[in-house]
Amino acid sequence: MGEVRPIVHVGDPVLHTPCEPVTRFDDELRELVDDMFASMYAANGVGLAANQIGVPLRVFVYDCPDENGANHKGVVVNPTLELPGLGQRRLDAGEEGCLSVPGQFAPLPRPDRATVHGFDAEGRPVTVEGTSMLARCLPHETDHLDGYLYSERLPAKRRKQVLAAYEAAKAAG
Ligand SMILES: [Zn+2]
Repeated sequence: MGEVRPIVHVGDPVLHTPCEPVTRFDDELRELVDDMFASMYAANGVGLAANQIGVPLRVFVYDCPDENGANHKGVVVNPTLELPGLGQRRLDAGEEGCLSVPGQFAPLPRPDRATVHGFDAEGRPVTVEGTSMLARCLPHETDHLDGYLYSERLPAKRRKQVLAAYEAAKAAG
């Protein structure tokens, strides 16, 4: 059972800096993964990157439905993202949100399928293929580890609206 750690919000440098690759698949890593699952569930999220709890390592966890409503759960260490080629790419125009920009959502087109290659917490290779919400989750979490938030992929006007609404909600307590 992991420990729930506080979620870091937009503006904290750890969210805006690329994370370091994991080099040791040890108990410390497995403890981090347990804490990430606990923190994700406590925040009602479907995915969480390590830097969202302040740890600058390339690890994310997810527990997210696909297009058939079936839940997929796992961890990916040192992920690399693979999207369909431009010719085969179909965009899903759904809304996106992020635990690090709490309470805000905005439409963000993403490819309707995505694949991530990486390792599990024991260092074994894993490949995760996603459709629907999972296809949105995999690039969202990989972006986090590269130091980007989904809000940075929004058109400038929408990005400002999202951040202003977040600031207003925070100021209102
Ligand atoms: Zn996020």
